[in-house]
Amino acid sequence: MRIRNLTVRFGQFTAVDDVSLDIGDGEVVALLGPSGCGKSTLLRAVAGLESQVEGTIRWGEQDLTSAPVHKRGIGLVFQDGQLFPHRDVAGNVRFGLRMHRIDDPHRVDELLELVGLSGYQRRKVTELSGGEQQRVALARALAPQPRLLLLDEPLSALDRALREQLAIDLARLLRKTGTSALVVTHDHDEAFTLADRVALMRQGRIVQTGTADEVWRYPVDEQTATFLGCGL
Ligand code: ATP
Ligand code: MG
Repeated sequence: MRIRNLTVRFGQFTAVDDVSLDIGDGEVVALLGPSGCGKSTLLRAVAGLESQVEGTIRWGEQDLTSAPVHKRGIGLVFQDGQLFPHRDVAGNVRFGLRMHRIDDPHRVDELLELVGLSGYQRRKVTELSGGEQQRVALARALAPQPRLLLLDEPLSALDRALREQLAIDLARLLRKTGTSALVVTHDHDEAFTLADRVALMRQGRIVQTGTADEVWRYPVDEQTATFLGCGL
């Protein structure tokens, strides 16, 4: 995916400011930056959920800039999963399929197996642990076989041990399915586990990109170093 000169405004305020970013096929990019710097807004704009957007979003020859949300080939997972509480696990995953008019009863089982929840079809989502709920959200997002997953702090509501395990599982799952991903995270270890590349954002702009190792070793300036907690 090629994102070029993407700008998102809320009235006079520029939340995302002239952002250009490439995400290769099967590549996982971690997006890091202080609270309020525009990470979620950038993800929402790429997904087609923001209205005041300038710039272009392309996938190969395809121009996605004004494509409707369901035609972009993008899956979304938020911090709290945002599952439908009145539906069971299978019902939540099936929703992801129906939205894309896929009607294959075996696909739900396949997806649940993929995220390590075989046999959970009839369970109520309200009775699942946080980690299990995030796995359901992932299965739902993966249902239409998106080319790109946008993950907005998908693991941050979980405790440390579970987060580490799920980050490993998620990395494996993305590789196995060949899905590209842009993952917002606050967590150093998570960025290292998941991402081929890291993009650092500040005040609506991307200030540095590189491998996690490069970014932590050679932060572009003092503010970035302080944010990453590595000092100069
Ligand atoms: P966090 O790490 O806390 O989730 P973030 O980097 O995801 O922060 P955003 O949610 O993208 O930040 O918000 C970026 C800026 O845009 C913030 O100043 C926020 O207040 C503002 N903003 C976000 N959504 C709207 C909106 N719908 N209307 C007006 N301002 C908004
Ligand atoms: Mg956010």
